[in-house]
Amino acid sequence: MKQDKNIPYKVYLTEEELPKAWYNVRADMKNKPAPLLNPGTGKPLKAEELSPIFCDELIKQELDDDTAYIEIPQEIRDCYKMFRPSPLVRAYFLEEALGTPAKIYYKFEGNNTSGSHKLNSAMAQAYYAKKQGLKGVTTETGAGQWGTALSMACSFFGLDCKVYMVKVSYEQKPFRREVMRTYGASVTPSPSTETEIGKKILAEFPGTTGSLGCAISEAVEAATKQEGYRYVLGSVLNQVLLHQSIIGLEAKAAFDKLGVKPDIIIGCAGGGSNLGGLISPFMGEKLRGEADYRIIAVEPASCPSLTRGKFAYDFCDTGKVCPLAKMYTLGSGFIPAPNHAGGLRYHGMSSILSQLYHDGYMEATSVCQTDVFKAAEQFARVEGILPAPESSHAIKAAIDEALKCKETGEEKTILFGLTGTGYFDMVAYEKFHNGEMTDYIPTDEELAASLAGLPAVAE
Ligand SMILES: *Cc1c(COP(=O)(O)O)cnc(C)c1O
Repeated sequence: MKQDKNIPYKVYLTEEELPKAWYNVRADMKNKPAPLLNPGTGKPLKAEELSPIFCDELIKQELDDDTAYIEIPQEIRDCYKMFRPSPLVRAYFLEEALGTPAKIYYKFEGNNTSGSHKLNSAMAQAYYAKKQGLKGVTTETGAGQWGTALSMACSFFGLDCKVYMVKVSYEQKPFRREVMRTYGASVTPSPSTETEIGKKILAEFPGTTGSLGCAISEAVEAATKQEGYRYVLGSVLNQVLLHQSIIGLEAKAAFDKLGVKPDIIIGCAGGGSNLGGLISPFMGEKLRGEADYRIIAVEPASCPSLTRGKFAYDFCDTGKVCPLAKMYTLGSGFIPAPNHAGGLRYHGMSSILSQLYHDGYMEATSVCQTDVFKAAEQFARVEGILPAPESSHAIKAAIDEALKCKETGEEKTILFGLTGTGYFDMVAYEKFHNGEMTDYIPTDEELAASLAGLPAVAE
């Protein structure tokens, strides 16, 4: 390994250097993300209307467009110590394998049992639910990372945790399910007959294997119908991006310590929480005109909300019980093709990132899943970590940028978010290794059909 004298392979922060406050990028946005709307009245939602669904403190964070720094309570900082700081790694081995003059760094969030960055927000949300005196929380999970993170956080703070897991994942990922049960969560395949909306969806689409949007509807219903329960969500919302800013704040502090400034920042984008968190402090500098960065969101070609979706108000869930959010969306009825194995399958994108993208502060690109798994394998073989398919979207884009530097001879500094590990995704890796993985890109007609279901909202 050829190593720069002044740059170690891994950079860790000391306890004193850890961030004590989250950064709220909305405070520096001239065009604030559009407010959540009441689907019944079409009017912006007030805190009182959200309180049957969400925890009070989290509602405050959700609606706060102005406070730049929000203190991380000591209890949360304490449990962050179990898995933070996460290392900023200089990918010397990958650079060497690519023969690129680019300097590649990644921030690795997979060093906890849930295997992803989602624990950063799960710990915060469980803490606020407990502090409010609630009995428990409900949520949905697709591939299972969020449900796992939340069940860990709930067991830590002594809360009941009820997870609606997309049926196809429930059946295909029994190990995820058992991790959640180990932490004391109850896990129900969705759609289920436990909720009115689940029954309705099952009657309309018998044999359906479920979707995230449908599991969200069930989890919201379960929270609002039980005394002492609230619903929590692992991505998309402003509060989640706020909690995930810990990733970017730590990365920025580590770069400042090294005296290095990244030129390009890359993250995979599902609902937008890891990317939003990673870029927040850098985006803040960009918004305030203090520095410039190229920021790239990477999404699957089979679920291309930023690159091919529409910037409009849409439902967050299939059952249409959730508030309306203005975002880049493919339509709340959109479900990626069944051969899609790479995660990042949500139909919409965080309102914050959607607004920033719309205003030209960041770029977006889409990649095909076979290329994503090629990049994942290449990365695993040289850097050792077996990446989650989601994270591998960012790896693929980072490799492409590094190869461009090889052509031009530019020594750009690239930072990407390595959001998690892929041990529970070996069925997808198996398909890739057997040459059975295919790419499916939705046609314009298919997207137009699902976008035709957007609600009419007067703006
Ligand atoms: C959930 C998840 C993502 C995508 O979610 P975002 O909210 O877009 O960050 C990415 N990587 C991993 C490992 C995940 O678990």
